[in-house]
Amino acid sequence: MTEVRALVLERQHVLALRDIDLPMAVGPGMVRIAIHTVGVCGSDVHYYTHGKIGPFVVDAPMVLGHEAAGTVVEVGEDVSHLRVGDRVCMEPGIPDPNSRASRMGLYNIDPTVRFWATPPVHGVLTSQVVHPAIYTFKLPDNVSFAEGAMVEPFAVGMQAAFKAGIKPGDTAVVLGAGPIGTMVALAALAGDVRAWSWPILPSQSWILRPATKGLFRSIFAKMIWRQKLRGSPTGGAPIWFLNVRDRRVPGKASWHCRGRGAPSWLLACQ
Ligand SMILES: [Zn+2]
Repeated sequence: MTEVRALVLERQHVLALRDIDLPMAVGPGMVRIAIHTVGVCGSDVHYYTHGKIGPFVVDAPMVLGHEAAGTVVEVGEDVSHLRVGDRVCMEPGIPDPNSRASRMGLYNIDPTVRFWATPPVHGVLTSQVVHPAIYTFKLPDNVSFAEGAMVEPFAVGMQAAFKAGIKPGDTAVVLGAGPIGTMVALAALAGDVRAWSWPILPSQSWILRPATKGLFRSIFAKMIWRQKLRGSPTGGAPIWFLNVRDRRVPGKASWHCRGRGAPSWLLACQ
């Protein structure tokens, strides 16, 4: 164990930025990663505000954070696809590779999965973590750390869009504008769906603030540019941000639907 500085949820409503003992030994097949960027999604907020999510109860201090990107600083034996200095993002859920779900290729639903920042497993709002190399993925040079940290939330968005069976030209309202809601809206956009990301909580109107618009604008701009290159039938449909506290929201939503009635999809996220 090594003492590292981390954002620790001591118990419900009590956070501390302090040193905590975390395992830092790099065994075979493992890598050590210096964390650069971590997203904070509804799961972290739930643990802070409610002290639990369903059966997962914070009954001991726990480091928060599970969607992250960083740089490899140490490589264990038997790791051939990563080197020191590689910029990477990580799969936050480590399954049992021999479980039925894993062998079916559905490792995300393995009931024994160990997921960062899910009691009693510590998360990654800390300076460094040790992680299995096979669940650590090198980022291309044109993908930023912030975008890398959004890869796991974006996978959630792609699964939501896939499960919903979206079609080009559909319309969608995404309730919730945290990392998950934003990535669901992006996934819908990738499927040529007109999407509105709709903050479900007043606190989520942070996304409407100029300080945070820049990052999401740059991500959206890349996505829209790619759609235009692909010859998208909607010509790169934009995402509109609506504020749930705005009384004009119903009128705005119907205007964006261009007289086609209600949105095709309502996707609730955190
Ligand atoms: Zn998350």
